[in-house]
Amino acid sequence: MAQGVFDVAVVGAGVVGCAIARRFAIDGARVLILERAHDVLDGASKGNSAILHTGFDAPEGSLELDCIRAGYAEYREIHARMNLPLDPCGALVLAWTEEQQAALPGLMAQAAANGVGDVEMLDHATLPALESQLAPEVRAGFRVPGEALIDPWSAAHAYLYQAIQHGAELRLRAELLTAERQAESWRLHASAGSFEAGLVVNAAGLWGDHVERILTGESWFQIRPRKGQFILYDKPAAALAGHILLPVPTKVTKGVVVCRTIFGNLLVGPTAEEQEEREDASVVPATLEALRQTGETILPALAGQEVTAFYAGLRPASEDKAYRIRADLERGLVTVGGIRSTGLSAALGIAQHVARLVGRAPGVARDWPEMPVLAQDGARDWQAPGNGGIVCHCELVTRREIAAAMEGPAPAQSLAGLKRRTRVTMGRCQGFYCSAELARLTEGRFTQPMLAGAVDDAG
Ligand SMILES: Cc1cc2nc3c(=O)[nH]c(=O)nc-3n(C[C@H](O)[C@H](O)[C@H](O)COP(=O)(O)OP(=O)(O)OC[C@H]3O[C@@H](n4cnc5c(N)ncnc54)[C@H](O)[C@@H]3O)c2cc1C
Repeated sequence: MAQGVFDVAVVGAGVVGCAIARRFAIDGARVLILERAHDVLDGASKGNSAILHTGFDAPEGSLELDCIRAGYAEYREIHARMNLPLDPCGALVLAWTEEQQAALPGLMAQAAANGVGDVEMLDHATLPALESQLAPEVRAGFRVPGEALIDPWSAAHAYLYQAIQHGAELRLRAELLTAERQAESWRLHASAGSFEAGLVVNAAGLWGDHVERILTGESWFQIRPRKGQFILYDKPAAALAGHILLPVPTKVTKGVVVCRTIFGNLLVGPTAEEQEEREDASVVPATLEALRQTGETILPALAGQEVTAFYAGLRPASEDKAYRIRADLERGLVTVGGIRSTGLSAALGIAQHVARLVGRAPGVARDWPEMPVLAQDGARDWQAPGNGGIVCHCELVTRREIAAAMEGPAPAQSLAGLKRRTRVTMGRCQGFYCSAELARLTEGRFTQPMLAGAVDDAG
């Protein structure tokens, strides 16, 4: 028997699924979110560069560009209402070779054609005034003032919480296994039970083609995971770069970025490595060594800086660069696949596009979640009275923040989920000092208990 009847079932609670669920819930639909993992953001969305892209280098005239532009605009419009951080630091696109320098005017023209008209050419002489630590070999570049840094996890959590505030239901450990299309609706059989929904949105990221086959018996695209490895430097290194430092992009990748994080670290990465395996986000010492050298070529002062952590993310790339978004209204199915490397920026725009595809009239949000302030320069809870004391001294996470993350609309269900909600254990000691206390505080609260499944996979 179906456990519930819904207008829309969203399969996958990555940043894209959360944004789509939010849009439909605000627009008045009864929404179900099925997520196969113990907690949300367990796929591609758990490890990325956290840049809110303007779309300056997106393919001209593409759906990806439209979604990035719309997502970027909506994020900027709503972030303050939900306490979501935004560091409008801007980016510098840097040329290190003659060939890259020759490509700059074309890229600037592309930016203007993409609606990002405020880019500004910089020559060799101007660059040191903007970035004093840049290697002197840099030839030229241009500035994209609109590129910004955000928190990749609180944004997606905020979309999810707002969806739930508007009546959406989240089912975790609910992997879609089989599905039958009936006359007017779908019957979905998941590991957490069976459900009925008029419309299904496939937002299964790295498993998008697999879910497409469950729904229709075949898939019109194939996911080819593309791994990106990162080095995360300690907080003192963040002073070395004011802007997001980007290379001249190639057809395949945006290349290795050097930038601060909203949490006050500095990251170098990602790589772009195609692989078959959809869950192997391991890091490889030789690749990290090459990344370290690339970082030091850009910012020589990185040499000798301490490293906090390494991590990797998997992009849900497909055989085509384009987003794989398609609606089959007769079948009651919208596919949102292949959201490779810009999904964090585009998520809200993708959600708008999907709502338009199915002809849903835009609603007005009644409630707005108030997200915890985790950004390095924000007013943090440890500074406020009554916080219960600090548990994680590296990231200054309080007992009150941990308690809040285990309550609310979608309580953390694993250490990884708690990390993404609070930053606990994500600092210099990587949980060495606070794990025992955390195990005590979270005892009996997680569906994936800390000691049984203490895999450090938060990204
Ligand atoms: C290295 C790297 C750097 C990046 N940098 C940036 C950046 O700076 N800016 C930016 O905008 N974007 C960036 N991105 C891209 C962004 O992270 C992705 O586009 C985005 O996370 C894709 O989200 P998604 O929701 O489509 O997929 P996912 O996050 O993979 O979500 C899909 C969800 O579906 C669930 N699922 C799968 N199968 C089933 C099933 N059968 N039943 C139920 N649930 C299921 C999974 O568990 C998962 O939680 C980067 C990505 C990577 C990897």
